[in-house]
Amino acid sequence: MRVDVVTIFPEYLEPLNVSLVGKARARGQLDVRVHDLRRWTHDRHHTVDDTPYGGGPGMVMKPEPWGEALDDIIASGAPAAPGEPPARPVLVVPTPSGVPFTQTLAVELSARPWLIFAPARYEGIDRRVIEEYGEHLDVYEVSIGDYVLAGGEAAVLVITEAVARLLPGVLGNAESHRDDSFAPGAMADLLEGPVYTKPPEWRGRGIPEVLLSGHHGKIARWRRDEAFRRTARNRPDLIERCDPAALDKHDRALLAELGWEQRPDGRFGRTAGVVEE
Ligand code: SAM
Repeated sequence: MRVDVVTIFPEYLEPLNVSLVGKARARGQLDVRVHDLRRWTHDRHHTVDDTPYGGGPGMVMKPEPWGEALDDIIASGAPAAPGEPPARPVLVVPTPSGVPFTQTLAVELSARPWLIFAPARYEGIDRRVIEEYGEHLDVYEVSIGDYVLAGGEAAVLVITEAVARLLPGVLGNAESHRDDSFAPGAMADLLEGPVYTKPPEWRGRGIPEVLLSGHHGKIARWRRDEAFRRTARNRPDLIERCDPAALDKHDRALLAELGWEQRPDGRFGRTAGVVEE
């Protein structure tokens, strides 16, 4: 996968040389290219921002440098094979007003061969840039959470790491992300439950017996129960949204025990009057 990042703080992306993403780059699984937006400015001060139309506080990123940068980077894409049209990147624009970044979106992006990130500073990028590239490319405006950062670079680090670990061969064990929280599949929409390693006793604390049983069925059941318990406690919204058809008899009994009931529309909701522990 190729990843281009256009930013006014290239040094902010240094962590992409470290750990999992750094190793994926070194192995050639990930081709990351970080560009300084100011390279595409033409005035003495390398200006990338200006005052907002309509007034108000803050500055807005000018469209011209972004347009020139994106045109050059897009033009540098080689065709996947001779005679084929040039590769088409996906444009990812981090913004608190975007769609929430989720594991499902990470999986979707990990299937694309080329991502271009446009992290902004100030009050964001002139809207016309997003409209312009939206006519030729798939543009994802993505938020990493309901809070406001000073710039989109941290969001690029988050999204790149979440996507890179899904690429074939990047994680040592391809199964590692199968049971992750939010992983699409059997445990979809559940948080992962607790995990343990050696020693079997630490500061007087043991580990759940079932994990030592060697009984795969019982271990899987225990993990699923724990996932339900944790999800009900920390993310009740996920239980409310979960597809009742994905629940077995045991799941339903556990939810009832935890104070949840099935509503007329089939979805689960908290049983009225149940007070959380
Ligand atoms: N005025 C903007 C708003 O309220 O939507 C916030 C701009 S913020 C100060 C500057 C930049 O940081 C954004 O354009 C975006 O690139 C990035 N950013 C801030 N919070 C973010 C979030 N939660 N998710 C993704 N990017 C974010």
